[in-house]
Amino acid sequence: MARTELKQLGEFGLIDHLSQRIHPQHPETLLGIGDDAAVLDQGNGLVTLVSKDLLVEGIHFDLHYTPLKHLGYKAIAVNVSDIAAMFGTPKQVLVGIAVSNVFSVEDIDALYEGVELACGDYKVDLVGGDTTSSKIGLVISVTVLGIAKKEEVVYRKGASENDIICVTGDLGAAFTGLQVLEREKQVFLANSDMQPELEHYEYVIERLLKPKARMDVVYELKELGVLPTSMIDISDGLASELFHLCRASQLGCAIFEDKLPIDSQTDQTLLELSIDPITAALNGGEDYELLFTIRQGDFEKIKNNPHLHFIGYMMSATKGKKLATKGGNSIDLKAQGWVHM
Ligand code: ADP
Ligand code: MG
Repeated sequence: MARTELKQLGEFGLIDHLSQRIHPQHPETLLGIGDDAAVLDQGNGLVTLVSKDLLVEGIHFDLHYTPLKHLGYKAIAVNVSDIAAMFGTPKQVLVGIAVSNVFSVEDIDALYEGVELACGDYKVDLVGGDTTSSKIGLVISVTVLGIAKKEEVVYRKGASENDIICVTGDLGAAFTGLQVLEREKQVFLANSDMQPELEHYEYVIERLLKPKARMDVVYELKELGVLPTSMIDISDGLASELFHLCRASQLGCAIFEDKLPIDSQTDQTLLELSIDPITAALNGGEDYELLFTIRQGDFEKIKNNPHLHFIGYMMSATKGKKLATKGGNSIDLKAQGWVHM
């Protein structure tokens, strides 16, 4: 039989391929594969949201520069982020770990200190998991459960033409933090007497090692009575996530280069590293900010919110996906994404 390499499909292609054989059997399964979380009907006007994210040593984190406590925090935060992306409220998590004997009980304690801290911050209960040994490094698998009112779930689909595209926080910082840490790791590996120089890079490093799920923004929008028309969290990079929203909503989009939020330390560090900040903002992964669309009529309610940036608008699919450059040109947006495979 012919052999197809995984890289021919890529991560998203593989998920599409697998999902073709999967057919939910229960009417309660309102949505299975294809969004940030599955949506399960509780029958009382509420839905359960459920999602899983896997963190694998050497792929998603490097223990040379990732403190276990931060890693535990991040494992929870990135899962909560997927519940935020459905406009839901996280409630419980299950934590599975595969560990080798290079880890001590104290190490696992440190990991769980971070887990506990995040569970406190996001008000979720750790209700179970699984523990096994590993020969290939540390693996952390977290499943998160959340709830939402059935009518208030926000999907990747649902945006309309002329809806305003919003993004929270700032972009490209986690990618920048990764570049700094990789640089220092190479210096250290070449000469172990050299201590890493991480002063002036605290913000970008923290953004990589200890990302936050933007539940604060979800609660704020709910309070203001703003229901986004579509939403996704930014794990793979803005451009890639915009492609998901456009595909799900069967639309195109236009975004403005000069509206992309980039923090000053990110900008400064990228300048030093000779990396284009716009490329980092569009394609750098792991920011875990929220990308969503709102009706024009809701703009007044949130226009002064300092956490929110209005970067463009949705348009018909026939107009494509465009980036308006600072120089006044309109170019095709490319989604390079954040490729793990
Ligand atoms: P996110 O970046 O929000 O975590 P992913 O891109 O990982 O989302 O996943 C997209 C969708 O595909 C989700 O609905 C997820 O549950 C589903 N999915 C991912 N991997 C698998 C798999 N191996 N089997 C079944 N469904 C999967
Ligand atoms: Mg997601």
